[in-house]
Amino acid sequence: MPTISKGDYVLVTGASGFLGAHTALAFLEAGYRVRGTVRSKSKGEYLVKLFAGKGEFDYVLVDDITREGAFDEAVKGVDAVAHTASPVVMSGAVEPKELLDPAIKGTTGVLESIEKVNPGIKRVVITSSFMAMFNMYPGTYRYTEKDWNEISPAHVEENGAQSWPFHSYNTSKVLAEKAFWKFIEDKKPSWEGVAINPSWILGPIIHDCDSPEKLNESIALFYPWAAGKMTEKDLPGQVGLGVHVKDVTLAHIRALEVPEAAGERFLTSSHTYTSQDYVDILHKHFLDLPNVPVGQPETYEERSKEYPIGDSSKLTRVLGITLTPFGDIVVDMTKSLRERFNF
Ligand code: NAP
Repeated sequence: MPTISKGDYVLVTGASGFLGAHTALAFLEAGYRVRGTVRSKSKGEYLVKLFAGKGEFDYVLVDDITREGAFDEAVKGVDAVAHTASPVVMSGAVEPKELLDPAIKGTTGVLESIEKVNPGIKRVVITSSFMAMFNMYPGTYRYTEKDWNEISPAHVEENGAQSWPFHSYNTSKVLAEKAFWKFIEDKKPSWEGVAINPSWILGPIIHDCDSPEKLNESIALFYPWAAGKMTEKDLPGQVGLGVHVKDVTLAHIRALEVPEAAGERFLTSSHTYTSQDYVDILHKHFLDLPNVPVGQPETYEERSKEYPIGDSSKLTRVLGITLTPFGDIVVDMTKSLRERFNF
């Protein structure tokens, strides 16, 4: 059961992204050397500056993760891989293929490069998603690692190019994770695999993002609540499940460090909520923010009786992670967005 130890060299793919940048930083702060993959030199140089003084960091350009051999250079000499790169688009006009190809070929491509160039690697963790588990069961269903999303692949199969982006994205995560497990089953590599399945990842931003319009999907959905761009009629909003980005990065680290994590998937989610919970926390902690709607405060007890649950007890039991309370997540996220976008 090879695991990584301090000083080892970890490749983080998609290091320029919201989660990727946090993941690279978390590995550095935990005493690892880190290489990131990015799509442009400017994104790589941003990270070099961001991580200055934090430890040894370098980056490799991988502009098209669907290209055969795209990761050959990046995996050379590393001890483990955390594969986070994948397109996240859940609204607007996007064809399933635009999400499925990079998600699936990106995943199998990293694994093929490892087998070709660096087969003695210790471990690989992929960022899958709670959406690879979420089946839209009505009511208070308790999701666990046994669940697989079956409705999104069926929707995409049936609707093709007309599929809802929500289902296309979910399908990209289902099929990428299944391709990961199949690769391991078929090729029986010497390294072991782990999947982390986070719900909506929330928290501060550290990646290169100079305007709210360029925020990644999960933070982009929160931003207008704090920025006073929503109204009473937008409340209570849809039900979602969320988790702090720092808990997700720790899950990636422990996935490579903990022997018992091998071959397992980990549902990573702390809280089920609606936008009503966002505004309750904003009103409690940020009294100076204008135009935050009020809705019906203090109704969580009652409302949450109808919410689905993401059971993360395996994450706590096996990886030893205690999840951050929802209030702290929203406070950290709001402070960071206010600082970045000056509001
Ligand atoms: P993000 O900020 O958009 O980051 C995505 C990363 O993947 C970026 O580095 C991006 O590169 C790269 N990427 C996207 N499409 C690519 C393509 N076609 N070719 C090469 N690289 C590509 O999104 P994120 O929220 O951090 O998501 C990171 C991972 O977490 C994804 O695997 C996502 O499915 C998973 N996840 C996210 C959430 C969430 O709530 N955010 C929840 C569960 C799972 P550029 O920077 O160059 O665009």
